[in-house]
Amino acid sequence: MNRFGALLVLALCSLSCSQDIPPRMEFVLGTLCSVNLFERGTVADYGAVFARFREIQDVMALTAASAGEGATDLDLVNLNAGIGPVAVRGELLDVLEEARRYAELSGGAFDPTVGPLVKLWGIGSDNPRVPAADEIERALALVDWRDLVIDRAAGTAFLRRRGQSLDLGAIAKGYAADEAAAILRSRRSRRALIDLGGNIFALGERPWWRSWRIGVQDPLDDRGNYLGILRVKNTSVVTSGVYERYFEEEGRRYHHILSTSDGYPVQNGLLAVTIAAARSIDADALSTACFALGPERGLALVETLPDTEAVFVDRDRNVMLSSGAAKLFTLTGGNYRVIPTISSSNTR
Ligand code: ADP
Ligand code: MG
Repeated sequence: MNRFGALLVLALCSLSCSQDIPPRMEFVLGTLCSVNLFERGTVADYGAVFARFREIQDVMALTAASAGEGATDLDLVNLNAGIGPVAVRGELLDVLEEARRYAELSGGAFDPTVGPLVKLWGIGSDNPRVPAADEIERALALVDWRDLVIDRAAGTAFLRRRGQSLDLGAIAKGYAADEAAAILRSRRSRRALIDLGGNIFALGERPWWRSWRIGVQDPLDDRGNYLGILRVKNTSVVTSGVYERYFEEEGRRYHHILSTSDGYPVQNGLLAVTIAAARSIDADALSTACFALGPERGLALVETLPDTEAVFVDRDRNVMLSSGAAKLFTLTGGNYRVIPTISSSNTR
């Protein structure tokens, strides 16, 4: 098991940035979250952000709890799959609607009902394993975002079939990063770095209108070395990669992004996909969706979305950029090369 952030914030803020109090770091939302406020950040600002993270965790995390004490709203929807709709907090409906939108946009490559498969593989748990083919088949048959029924008027969510379950691991951290950014903006803290286990929101800009510099991890190098730099302002940058959560069995590596067409970890030659977008929920969902879609279909999807850019990295050390990413991205890893894509030839 391995876990480290896929994105590195470079040159945090340099001398011209005044910082009165140190950053705050906590393990919440299943990952190490750090928030770094620059200029006028207060202890109360940090408190408000981390309190919100815990609230979100209490609503949409998956726990081992049964219906009683400690069950989150998300647990309750899962426990009542095939039984009946459950009244949940509005924010969970918001995230479920976004998840469903990305499921539709990606033709089901991203699917929030992937729960039975995630549980079966146990990736990220203490005992992951390679399941038998018939187990995979049974779990896969339960994965279908069209069985998620959201009733806004009643304030309920429902999974149609018994055994189905939701997993928001590919989107909830993005939602949390957006909530943190909104809280900080409303508190007039306008320059901050929010990092939820590599799910980054770079709020505002560095002094003198400069961009933040976000390093994109070299997926073949686990020493925290990056292969390129993205320069962004007021943008979220999120990576999904094969090296984030995985286990090894008989010399093979099994990572945590599962194919909703065959039930195995996605194998399409990709090692990582990084997305830059104004909202972190979009960047988070899209990084997973694009990874699952592969470079051709993933880039085609990104090109349809305004103000959304992507960096794909494959195992042959090719880097593929969306049409607008060339302006933001600088390759620094000598072992990699940027190769032309359909999107770059279309916009020429
Ligand atoms: P990370 O959790 O490392 O930030 P991702 O955002 O890519 O990475 O989310 C991966 C997680 O999403 C998995 O651990 C699992 O919980 C869930 N997941 C796996 N495959 C899919 C899929 N095809 N669609 C939606 N969610 C998925
Ligand atoms: Mg994601």
